[in-house]
Amino acid sequence: MNFKNVTIAGSGVLGSQIAFQSAFFGFNVSVYDINEGAIEAAKTRMIALKDTYGAYFKDEARAEKALASFSYFTDLAAATKDADLVIEAVPERIEIKQSFYENLAKVAPKKTVFASNSSTLLPSQFAAFTGRPEKFLALHFANSIWQNNTAEVMGHPGTDVQYVEQVADFARAIQMIPFVLKKEQPGYILNTLLVPFLSAAMELWVKDIADPQTIDKNWMISTGAPRGPFAIYDIVGMETPYNLNLMRAEKDPAAKFVAEKIKREMIDQGKMGISTGEGFYKYPNPAYLDPNFTKSN
Ligand code: NAD
Repeated sequence: MNFKNVTIAGSGVLGSQIAFQSAFFGFNVSVYDINEGAIEAAKTRMIALKDTYGAYFKDEARAEKALASFSYFTDLAAATKDADLVIEAVPERIEIKQSFYENLAKVAPKKTVFASNSSTLLPSQFAAFTGRPEKFLALHFANSIWQNNTAEVMGHPGTDVQYVEQVADFARAIQMIPFVLKKEQPGYILNTLLVPFLSAAMELWVKDIADPQTIDKNWMISTGAPRGPFAIYDIVGMETPYNLNLMRAEKDPAAKFVAEKIKREMIDQGKMGISTGEGFYKYPNPAYLDPNFTKSN
């Protein structure tokens, strides 16, 4: 393993998980964020993750050790001083990522490999700003990375294949299962499949073809899947599909109806998904987990 020192830039939802996973599996982790307030928020997230990791891997002592091991920085040069790998998890906004890479290029050592966790943007959109396009690629995690442990590894046309391999090895070393894509693809493998699937479910609901639970039930019985699209929406939360449809509404009038319905029937009712105890299902015991759910209709 070529990497020892890893810097996570952006310590929000995903950044904090990537940092914890890396520390838990033995890497020296530096955490970088823009200001003290963001660092304080990260520390609170890390305390919650300590409990999650301790319970999930049945090793409280190791989780405690990981929690105590982080170095926190608001200065990018200090945060990357001896970094072998920087994993970027800053907000999904082109201008924020672009200026982040411009700054990073100025301060990071020559040896440092840069990986982006972006869900929808492509490495080729930022390669020119990194000052080392051959050492730049995407390493994409799925939320709740300790259990949903895929790591999609995707270079742009100028990425040197040796760094693709090194990053895939790093992913394995932190107990992820890497999937190396042969070419750039917006949405990688997972979201190329998932986004149209979830959008199709939404279309069935908005057109009033069937109710969410009926749609889920059909999918579960027909394919043997453990949950249907609306149960997945409850995990993702309503914010993401709302924003996605709002964005699409500029070109696609049907998306406007979808956004309006999500707002009216879900968001305005406080039904944001698992996080608020109710979405398309009520938690902690959603109907689809009842063994009888798929026994009749
Ligand atoms: P988030 O909003 O929870 O966290 C973003 C963090 O970046 C915050 O702590 C913020 O203070 C910090 N930040 C803002 N500007 C910065 C800058 N200039 N430099 C450094 N840090 C800065 O966002 P998130 O959900 O963790 O998403 C981060 C990235 O991970 C995005 O690219 C997103 O597409 C990707 N991602 C998110 C998920 C998910 O389920 N949330 C899953 C996979 C990938």
